[in-house]
Amino acid sequence: MSTIAPPSITPLGGPSLPQERHLVTALPGPRSQELLDRKAAAVSAGVGHTVPIEAVAAGGGVVVDADGNSLIDLGAGIAVTTIGNAHPKVVEAVQAQIAQFAHTCFMVSPYESYVAVAEALNRVTPGDHVKKSALFNSGAEAVENAIKVARKHTRRQAVVAFEHGYHGRTNLTMGLTAKAMPYKSGFGPFAGEIYRAPLSYPFRDGLSGAEAAARAISVMEKQIGADDLAAVIIEPIPGEGGFIVPADGFLPAIVDWCRANGVVFIADEVQTGFARTGTMFASEQFGIVPDLITMAKGIAGGMPLAAVTGRAEIMDASHIGGLGGTYGGNPVACAAALAAIEVFESEDLPARAQEVGAILRARLEALQADDPRIGEVRGRGAMVAVEFVKPGTTEPDAALTSAVAKACIAEGVIVLTCGAYGNIIRFLPPLSIPDALLEEGLDVVAAALAAV
Ligand code: PMP
Repeated sequence: MSTIAPPSITPLGGPSLPQERHLVTALPGPRSQELLDRKAAAVSAGVGHTVPIEAVAAGGGVVVDADGNSLIDLGAGIAVTTIGNAHPKVVEAVQAQIAQFAHTCFMVSPYESYVAVAEALNRVTPGDHVKKSALFNSGAEAVENAIKVARKHTRRQAVVAFEHGYHGRTNLTMGLTAKAMPYKSGFGPFAGEIYRAPLSYPFRDGLSGAEAAARAISVMEKQIGADDLAAVIIEPIPGEGGFIVPADGFLPAIVDWCRANGVVFIADEVQTGFARTGTMFASEQFGIVPDLITMAKGIAGGMPLAAVTGRAEIMDASHIGGLGGTYGGNPVACAAALAAIEVFESEDLPARAQEVGAILRARLEALQADDPRIGEVRGRGAMVAVEFVKPGTTEPDAALTSAVAKACIAEGVIVLTCGAYGNIIRFLPPLSIPDALLEEGLDVVAAALAAV
């Protein structure tokens, strides 16, 4: 049995776990090691893991393992448990729904919660035009369906995605994703009619937003031609790509070009959505109104749910029966989403994301001031990253990044790396993390950086 100490209340709910970093073994401890041995024997080698533990509980700002270690969570299960893990309102909604019915298939016997989630998404997403939604299971599935409706609506085929973009691991979304290792290598051939345009990456290209947009638009006009282009898909701030905040004006210029040319603009807000960046959606911060938005991750407090929301005339382009899936908009996931959206709004989590972001930035920028290995600290809200370089250059330092991340995890702080060059550590804490615990997590990051 793990030794979980008596309850203490976390600021934004979650199970009553002590909000502390507490290591009783080196990681992995013996019980975790046992599970990892079973994993190695039973689970496909293709499914990796970042933190060598057996998770048994999580909430507030901690993940607890089977050996009784309590780790500070600065990753939120890759930006999913934004409202906190096992939030009491989500737990209650899930328990009530599963006791009522677990599944009918919305395409067979519709139920209210699916419609209520669609109504909520139509309301909370940017833009006051008439919107409609459809629900799916994963971010990749949402992206696939956004491309489907954009093609059907425009009767065109080509799709543009961007350098440093990540959109999933299904065949179409692998094709949209920029990075070969580990996402694509050996898994082709990929779907056709996908083209890649250059991003705005101020730290590396030094271009203004207008210049970067002109460069991307030139690729779209010269290599594809607007008449054949169905959709442009872009993450307002690329997540797996390294929290690259585009230069001012880049996204609005791309949106304007799409509008002028009848191209559907899709914002992939799977990682940036639901308060993560300090507004409900990152698009709001760049002053853009996407035609379609893809969502998943934070949408349902940890339950698997995804959505596409957008202009009614585009979302209605499909013939009846063209969209769906057995589990899409599962009633238990929908109940969780309704509870989670209520929490985002009633607890003003966009404001909390700004507070968390202010703590992250203050500490990381202070580190940067004294450390030439930190090339840039960037992000929005509680989505902040550090890009590591060889001092005095912009040459990526993946070895340093990996060493710092490993050292943090060994000391009981969960951090995630990302970026095309593997030289970025990203911080995505649950917004339920107590400030003091976040500060302690950043102390560990600072010590790790000093030590390696
Ligand atoms: N789009 C973006 C921007 C993502 O960050 C991700 C997941 N990291 C996906 C799509 C794919 O989502 P999922 O893993 O739920 O399929």
